[in-house]
Amino acid sequence: MTIHANSTQARDIAHALHPYTNLKLHERIGPTVISSGRGIYVRDDEGRDYIEAVAGLWSASLGFGGEESMVEAITAQLRKLPFYHLFAHKAHEPGTDLAEKLIKMLPLPNGRVFFNNSGSEANDTAIKLAWYYNNALGRPRKKKIIAQMKAYHGVTIAAASLTGLTRNHLDFDLPMASVRHCDCPHHYRFAKEGESEEAFATRLAEQLENLILREGADTIAAFIAEPVLGAGGLIVPPKTYFDKIQPILKRHDILFIADEVICGFGRTGNMFGFETFNIQPDMVTMAKALSASYLPISATAISEPIYEVLRDNSARIGSFAHGYTYSGHPVCAAAALEALRIYETRNIVGHVQKVAKPFLAKARALLDLPFVGEVRGIGLLAGVELVRDKKSKASFEPARGVGMMFQTEAQKHGLIVRALGDTIALSPPLIITGEEIDDMYLRLGRTFDAFIPQLN
Ligand code: PLP
Repeated sequence: MTIHANSTQARDIAHALHPYTNLKLHERIGPTVISSGRGIYVRDDEGRDYIEAVAGLWSASLGFGGEESMVEAITAQLRKLPFYHLFAHKAHEPGTDLAEKLIKMLPLPNGRVFFNNSGSEANDTAIKLAWYYNNALGRPRKKKIIAQMKAYHGVTIAAASLTGLTRNHLDFDLPMASVRHCDCPHHYRFAKEGESEEAFATRLAEQLENLILREGADTIAAFIAEPVLGAGGLIVPPKTYFDKIQPILKRHDILFIADEVICGFGRTGNMFGFETFNIQPDMVTMAKALSASYLPISATAISEPIYEVLRDNSARIGSFAHGYTYSGHPVCAAAALEALRIYETRNIVGHVQKVAKPFLAKARALLDLPFVGEVRGIGLLAGVELVRDKKSKASFEPARGVGMMFQTEAQKHGLIVRALGDTIALSPPLIITGEEIDDMYLRLGRTFDAFIPQLN
């Protein structure tokens, strides 16, 4: 691609520092400039259309345009009250309505909802609340948080520490001292020869309990997990995993924080991932599809028992001194309310259940291709892991960047996918139709046809 002087590409290279980007490579190849969207499609500034097979960042659940009621809800709120905050006994209708709505949807009766702007902040808030809670209970040592290797919980200092991926720590002086990582629940990669999913889950649960005992349960505040690990490789935990670890956490009085930033609002075929995996959380963090990504908003919901402790402690020390200027921003809250209304009135969960069948069947059919080692998925989430040797499961040399090569090739075939290492993630907008799924796999098939010869 030629980059013309003064083009958007040239100005971008000169001025913007991009998230999750090889900055040196960016100077050479520049960005793909996305200028419009409709449904599951986005269009670049040269008029090329792409199927956005990851819903942006697993987030644009209603696609990239065409939802007039979202635009109306947002503009109506902008006209009425473009900003107000929730500090110090102030409220506004969209904020109150959204908190009430979420508590009705969650298994946290009489719980409370705290608003943030991003998934990372939602998880940071969860950690701060767990600390505040344990200080209030006179347990100042009970502060460590356990997260899984390969989990993704965000990039702020605390959330990046929870994230179990080396690249998020390297040269950022992370993780912080109070985080511990437990084993990654990925059967294909970490089970022993012949070990069933259930036996693997039992071993992981034992290893988790050993970690707790080694550290001392009186030093551990919370365990955090995504129901399905997303950005760390799209890993569906083995059968019985959550059934086995939850009693252990309960026994040691360790809070369960469910990170629903990707799984929440239909993605796994239920409204929340914790329903799919029978998790009983003490806190739930949500973002992304909460507002269908029309505007940034996230939430941290807590159970009633946690709330009561926070309430009494804030009275004792004078304030619950946590909050962002934009916590519960009224326009973002209005967007979220409308997104939730659409999910319900259009039965988005039922739709996901219906289209997930062909989506997953077509994903699994890719296993017949050379270099496809594992296909995993649930709902409208699928991960296709590319390997050098299918029999031994040997990976490609990381320096070859095979996943990125695939991502680049897919774009030439009108398909935006996301490479997580050498796993190709598919997580399309939840509104995708059966025909659009066919079209997506047609483009994926063409990508494989052009890509496989590059590997031989
Ligand atoms: N938690 C999960 C499961 C995520 O996938 C992400 C982002 O991808 C985050 C948290 C962080 O969200 P954000 O990027 O909005 O800070």
